[in-house]
Amino acid sequence: MRTCKLAALLLCLALLPSCQVHQPAGSSGADPAREQKAYSSGYETGYREGYAQGLDGRPDVGDTSQPGDVPPLSDSDGSRFVMISETVPDAILEIRYYSSYNFVGERIDGYQAPVALLTREAAEALKEVSDELAEQGYRLKIYDAYRPQSAVEHFKRWAADLEDVSMKEYFYPDLDKSVLFSQGYISSKSGHSRGSTVDVTLFDMDTGKELDMGGTFDWFGPRSHPNFTGLTEEQAANRKLLRDTMLAHGFKGINTEWWHFTLKNEPYPDTYFDFPVTLLP
Ligand SMILES: [Zn+2]
Repeated sequence: MRTCKLAALLLCLALLPSCQVHQPAGSSGADPAREQKAYSSGYETGYREGYAQGLDGRPDVGDTSQPGDVPPLSDSDGSRFVMISETVPDAILEIRYYSSYNFVGERIDGYQAPVALLTREAAEALKEVSDELAEQGYRLKIYDAYRPQSAVEHFKRWAADLEDVSMKEYFYPDLDKSVLFSQGYISSKSGHSRGSTVDVTLFDMDTGKELDMGGTFDWFGPRSHPNFTGLTEEQAANRKLLRDTMLAHGFKGINTEWWHFTLKNEPYPDTYFDFPVTLLP
C-alpha cells in the first residue's frame, strides 16, 4: 500500500512541471502560485518518504519480490555459479571461445580458462539430461555456457570490423559479414550472460565421435535451424534426441540454433553477468 502511494506521488511529481510548461496562457483558472506550493510540498513529502524507506531498508519502489524470491545479484557476483565439470562430470568440454577456433579467430575477452560455468539450477538440470543420455551411450559435449558481457562486447567489435573475415570459410562462407547484426547472428546482449544457457551437442561413446547433427556449432545459416529441412533422417533424429532430452528436463530451445538451450525457469532472468569465465574456488 505504502509503495503504491509513493509511486503515485512520484508519478505526479514527474508530470507536474511539464503540465505547467505546456499549459496555454490564460486557459485555466489554476493558480500558478498554488500549484507551485502543491508541487513543493509534494516533492518534500516524496523525498521524506523515499528517504525514510531507504533508511528502513524496505524494498525500493517497484520491487514486487515475494518472500522466498532470490534477490537480484550484482553482475560481477559469480558466487551462485558452478563449474559444469563439477556438477556434470560426464560432460566433455570444448570451450570454443577460450580457443581460437571460433568465428572471431582468437580467444574471446572474458574467457580466462577452458571451463564452463552455469547457475547451480541450470547445471543440476543438465546433470539430469546427462544421466538420461548416458544410459543410451551418449555424453554431452559443451561448447559454451555462461558468457560474460565483455565477451559479447568483443563479438560486437569484431562484427563492426568488416575487413576481418579470417574465419569466414569455416563459419559464414555464404553470408556477407555486414548482415550479422541485422539478421540476428550477433546482438548486443546474449542470454548466455544470464548464466542458464548452454550450447551443447551429443558425443557417441561407441564411435568416439560427435553425433552427426547435419551442421556444426556457430554455423551462420539456415542449416543451423533445428527444423532445417535438408537433413538426413539420421541427422534429424540426432537433433531430436538432443532437443527432446533437454526439453524433458526443463530447458527450452530456440528456432535458429539446434545446439542452444536455456533453462525455462532461469534464476536470474534480468541479470547480464560480467565476471570472467575462470576456475571457481
Ligand atoms: Zn548459444
